[in-house]
Formats: sequence, C-alpha cells, structure tokens
Amino acid sequence: MSRRPLRIGLSARIYHPQPGATGLQSKSLQYLEQSVAHWVMSREVMVFMIPSVSGDGMVHRSSIRLSDYPQYLDGLVLQGGADISPQSYGEQALKVEWSGDRLRDAYEMELLHEFMEAGRPVLGICRGAQLINVALGGTLYQDIATQYEQPEVHVHEDYDKYAHPIRWEPSSGLSKLYSESDGGKVISIHHQAIKALGKGLRVEARSTEDGLIEAIRLEGKPYVLGLQWHPEFHPPGAPDLLNCNPILDEFLTASRSHRW
Ligand code: MN
Repeated sequence: MSRRPLRIGLSARIYHPQPGATGLQSKSLQYLEQSVAHWVMSREVMVFMIPSVSGDGMVHRSSIRLSDYPQYLDGLVLQGGADISPQSYGEQALKVEWSGDRLRDAYEMELLHEFMEAGRPVLGICRGAQLINVALGGTLYQDIATQYEQPEVHVHEDYDKYAHPIRWEPSSGLSKLYSESDGGKVISIHHQAIKALGKGLRVEARSTEDGLIEAIRLEGKPYVLGLQWHPEFHPPGAPDLLNCNPILDEFLTASRSHRW
C-alpha cells in the first residue's frame, strides 16, 4: 500500500474590513501567501489552510472547532503577517501602528495549543515564531529599532531581498542539523522580536551582529520550532542564503512519525 502524502495545515492570514471599503474589501478575508504554501509543497505534501471560525462569520463555534483539525492533519505551519498585539503579552501598544491583530493572535494560539495537545508538530515562521513565544508566556520587543540597543537592520525597504547573518546557538538542534556551518544568511522582515522566552522554549539561533533571538524550539515533545526569518523567500539554490530544506525536512519527518 502506498503511503498517502502528508497533510499540513496552514494558519490563515486575516484581512479585516477597512472603514468605508466596498466590494471584496468590505469583507473579512482569510488568505495565504503563496510562497509559504509552495515552500511546504516542495515535498510530497498537501497543504490545507485552516480558516478561523471566530469573528463575524455565521459558523457557530459549537459546530466546527479548531480542535477537530489535528485529528486529520499531520502538522501545522503558522505563517507570517501582522504584528502580534502587545495586549496578548500584557502590554499596551506604545504606538497605535504597533497594535497588531489580537483576533488573529487568539485564533492562532488556539490552533497552536490544539496541535500541541494532540502531539502534532508545529513550525512557526516570522510572526509564527513570535506567536509560539507569546502563547507559551513569553514577551516581545514591540519595535526593535527603538527598544533594542544597537540593533542590526531586521526590516529593509528591499523587503524580501534583504538578508542578515545568523549563528546557531551552541548545542542547539539547528547546530546539530547544520553541523558543517556556524549559521548562514537569512531573509529578515520583522520589526518585532522575541524578548523574554516562553515556558519550555530554548534559543536555537541569534542574529550574528546584535544577538537578537532568531529561532526557538520547544524542549521535549511535541516538535515545535519557530523561525524569525522567511525560508519561503529563499530562492532554491541561492548560494549566499541559508538552505532551509533541512529544516523543512526535519519538520516533515516529525509530522510523518505521527501519521496514522
Ligand atoms: Mn532578523
């Protein structure tokens, strides 16, 4: 009997209707950014976006629950997007533009906890890494440039072409996975960053220049890894950027071991 492909869930990005908008933009949109789906689909994987069932929809939470998803999916990817709301880690936004998306925080935290409880692997990308940290009780810098001393550039007008170096934390899982190297260059698009670590998490990588946390992993089980950078924006075979395929394969191998 041939093995079925892996089924990986992808959290939705959420577009909230703007005041005065008409047509499609007057609706709540739940969507994915195709690069992240395509990156996961570069292996034998079927990707399913998991819509939020909260908000202004007509589906009642009692009929379909996020907790039903881990039964049918082998792993979860939390994709990037809007800022985490400082309210989600007990702070008020210092500027209105740093208010983030608290609805999406609540939805993704519920997803994360349901997958963890079911023992399913989770991979967080950028906002997803921050979400994992906050969901486990950690905090963030609301704005690296104004709150962190002598920061490296982490967001640039070149957007998904801008990269900076990172280094593996000694004896981390990533240092073992990439035993031939000390680190690499990664695409960086974030103005928030992990401050205090959440419970049970350890640092896996830091920004070489300023020591900011760039990757975290849950100690023990299940497999939970958060990357502050954007592997989905690394062109395949780019000689100057970190090859992130070993990370994808590690996550998928963990997902495969739970497949029924
Ligand atoms: Mn960075």
